[in-house]
Amino acid sequence: MDDKIMIITGGSRGIGASTARLAAARGYAVCISYLNNRPAADEVIAAIEEDGGRALAVQADVAQEADVLRLFDTVDRELGRVTALVNNAGILERQMRLEQMDAARLSRVFAANVIGSFLCAREAVRRMSTRQGGAGGAIVNLSSIAAKLGAPEEYVDYAASKGAIDSMTIGLAKEVAAEGIRVNGVRPGVIYTDIHASGGEPGRVERVKSAVPMKRGGQAEEVAQAILWLLSDESSYTTGTLIDVAGGR
Ligand code: NAP
Repeated sequence: MDDKIMIITGGSRGIGASTARLAAARGYAVCISYLNNRPAADEVIAAIEEDGGRALAVQADVAQEADVLRLFDTVDRELGRVTALVNNAGILERQMRLEQMDAARLSRVFAANVIGSFLCAREAVRRMSTRQGGAGGAIVNLSSIAAKLGAPEEYVDYAASKGAIDSMTIGLAKEVAAEGIRVNGVRPGVIYTDIHASGGEPGRVERVKSAVPMKRGGQAEEVAQAILWLLSDESSYTTGTLIDVAGGR
């Protein structure tokens, strides 16, 4: 069994895929989960294996409790006890004002972004906590700079779901700090990934980049670097912290 075992939800594309590749290069056995895009997940696994790494892809909707249980059970069986979790799977929906949002949309966004992260964190803590016979570990939650900016006229629901992630990060970090588990978050700014197409504006980074103090969008790899640092022993006294990877925004 490998001693560094990571689960990255939504590891088939974007920030999750970059994090998976970097983690594998740093010696983690990696399990990525994905929702629908099997070919993208296969591509990440193939790239890692080509470089001599160990990786596994599991289809699992983080918003479904049974899927989350199956994801963690599969990792227990195939790779061993998880030591690092990246709560990365997240969605946003078409840009609109709050007064246009219906309950179904709000349920989808909060289920994937908030409940999904809670369920995965719960399963990770059950395995990592020294109070429950575990050997400790680290969790990184993907928030967003939108949690601070609010995303007006675009997706206040998404921003609020990331605000919930910030609070969960702070609270859970304190809850499990004495049990060998560190919990931190990363708040990316505008990063070049497919997520902006889900909002109906694939070119969003180009539109908003002039408002970023560094005057450019970020790359997924730049976010992955922060995630990997927070999971590593180099951040051994850091917990309950959120790192903004947002070009100064
Ligand atoms: P992305 O390119 O849209 O990729 C999303 C990933 O999540 C895909 O692997 C997708 O799987 C998976 N996924 C979506 N819903 C899921 C569900 N219910 N269960 C399991 N997996 C699911 O997203 P990204 O831009 O890399 O974003 C990653 C994280 O960073 C998200 O939490 C996002 O909110 C956050 N973030 C991104 C930005 C940005 O500018 N890109 C900024 C701030 C924060 P499939 O491939 O199967 O669809």
